[in-house]
Amino acid sequence: WDRTLVDMPGVATHCPYCALQCGMELRPAPATARPDQVEVAPRAAGGRRAALCQKGWTAAELLSSPERLRTPLVRRGRGAALRPATWDEALGVVATGIARAQEESGPGAVAVLGGGGLTNEKAYALGKFARTVLRTPNIDYNGRFCMSSAAAAGNRAFGLDRGLPFPMADIAEADTVLLVGSNVAETMPPFLRFLTAERPGDGGLIVVDPRRTETAARARLHLQLTPGTDLALALGLLHIAIVEGYVDREYVESRTTGFADVRPIVMTYWPERVERLTGVPVADQHEAVRLLAHAGRAMVLTARGAEQHAKGVDTVSAFVNLALALGLPGTPGSGYGCLTGQGNGQGGREHGQKSDQLPGYRSIEDPAARAHVASVWGVDPDSIPGRGPSATELLDALGRPEGPRALLVFGTNPVVSAPAAGRVEERLASLDLLVVADLVLSETAALADVVLPSAQWAEEDGTMTNLEGRVIRRRRLRPPPAQVRTDLEILAGLARALGHDAAIDTDPERVFDELGRASAGGVADYAGISYDRIDTEDGLFWPCPDADHPGTPRMFLDGFATPDRRARFVPVDHRPAVEDIDAAYPVYLTTGRVRAQYQSGAQTRRVPTLAAAAPRAFVELHPALAERHGIEDGDDVRVVSRRGSAVAPARLTDSIRVDTVFMPFHWPGAGRANTLTNPALDPTSRMPEFKVCAVRLELVA
Ligand code: SF4
Repeated sequence: WDRTLVDMPGVATHCPYCALQCGMELRPAPATARPDQVEVAPRAAGGRRAALCQKGWTAAELLSSPERLRTPLVRRGRGAALRPATWDEALGVVATGIARAQEESGPGAVAVLGGGGLTNEKAYALGKFARTVLRTPNIDYNGRFCMSSAAAAGNRAFGLDRGLPFPMADIAEADTVLLVGSNVAETMPPFLRFLTAERPGDGGLIVVDPRRTETAARARLHLQLTPGTDLALALGLLHIAIVEGYVDREYVESRTTGFADVRPIVMTYWPERVERLTGVPVADQHEAVRLLAHAGRAMVLTARGAEQHAKGVDTVSAFVNLALALGLPGTPGSGYGCLTGQGNGQGGREHGQKSDQLPGYRSIEDPAARAHVASVWGVDPDSIPGRGPSATELLDALGRPEGPRALLVFGTNPVVSAPAAGRVEERLASLDLLVVADLVLSETAALADVVLPSAQWAEEDGTMTNLEGRVIRRRRLRPPPAQVRTDLEILAGLARALGHDAAIDTDPERVFDELGRASAGGVADYAGISYDRIDTEDGLFWPCPDADHPGTPRMFLDGFATPDRRARFVPVDHRPAVEDIDAAYPVYLTTGRVRAQYQSGAQTRRVPTLAAAAPRAFVELHPALAERHGIEDGDDVRVVSRRGSAVAPARLTDSIRVDTVFMPFHWPGAGRANTLTNPALDPTSRMPEFKVCAVRLELVA
């Protein structure tokens, strides 16, 4: 190790994990410690006090982990092991493989899969690389698995999607908060204080979740619904609001359209019917509406529990309809918002790594948007490919006769995180070329023909956009190890190897400025944001169209982003889960996260403290359900769905519904929850049905 590292000054940055993007200070450890070690301290930032969860405190351990990749790896021939290689050799193998696939099968023979943890600069560069260097329409990212349903519902109601259209501190000031499908006590613990703040009036926190999670346990009211019935519940709550006279008539008439189309559907969801569909008692439905309607300021927040369904967009729309009927969106102190999960889940969907979008959150099918972005890229608008398939469809097409033959993966691990993950493994194995850029040898990287070691968050500069739409800086503490490159350098090197010398800049600040020009005039307009302004103004909220604009912390106060400035009610109706329980598969499975792990666990499973805190998957089930199967706490349980089976120890708790089991999805191998999940897709967002499928249980003898 280079001992001069200890002389480097500390930097103010943010956590590498979730969308809360907590502020942190990084410092080289004192000279008495190992010189490669880095100290982490919480830092007040973005109007929030200093606080980190266990994942943040331990984030720097991965910088010096023996498990991080330190050199490119190449597999020379089918069945051969991955062996160290030089960068020239590795990039040469990739360039040759891409050229061969495209010569034989056209530009679409190569696909790209990105991630919601990539910085804005990387997400932008990846989209530009795919469209200008590879000229392929086949690019999408793992945000499809995260917030795409809320994004689609937000767009159709408000004309714009920003996770929280208000600063998160506003949530603490609301009298009542309805939180649908989120366990922030485990996923983003510092956020909990906004939900559990003292609320002086007769309001409180209402949590909708099939499990009495740590978050639900702190709520005034917990609506413990059957998995897959959130949409019916939302319709039922709006029914009560109408019948009880809680609808804000003046708001609905002056600021919205479409209420008349929603009303007839909602009126068929009388409380007793909703109780039969959802399991939520009539009295609790009434109490939830009363708490929301009597609040001076109220908020409706959704997250993955409502969104990760094949009817996720309609489910979110139903909750948005409820919020609109009560006059909340665009009213100071009130509103609707989505809690984005991944570190750059918000920015990651704004800058062009999504199959249907160009930078600035523009439609790739809009001729004016194509012309504008083409002018920034210096290409012919007609050369920009059209809309490509969503992530799940892209993965399913790999290696098929008309599908891509090569795949480049940046910042995601679909072998663990994609639905029906066993099928994903089969598709990856059928490729001519799989290239993975990652920090560690993830389960996806282990299948690759070429693995490119990429820098970690403390080794490069960049920006992230947190869950409230605030653009913030990540700062480099020190350079990456000698044979490790940043993703921008990797993309630039690949572009050069493919004959495009100047396509991708390697300087993050210049890339950000280019991103700003490309986004100018778009929905997510970053044109007025610069590294200097982020530094001096503690982050900036988009849209921020010019250097004199102060940014936009609170949206929709003067109107919505629709042509008539009114929000739209969207008529939606309940339908059962794609796969309901039956005699063969009589139990619901739902999935989620635990406090000490993050997403596919590729990073956090390699942090010793976190691995010790949460070493393996488990199956959470009610004692009554366990007794029916002769299962005791700690017994290995086989969970079987129509797509495969997973085995993990039983964890008995009466905090879960008796008809439901829960598995966290962070682990590969026998305990891989996503072996079981259903790849059925939402027709609009293409979100898979992660949150509910039918399974049966077997005690492993
Ligand atoms: Fe990092 Fe999220 Fe934990 Fe904050 S809550 S420290 S951003 S993982």
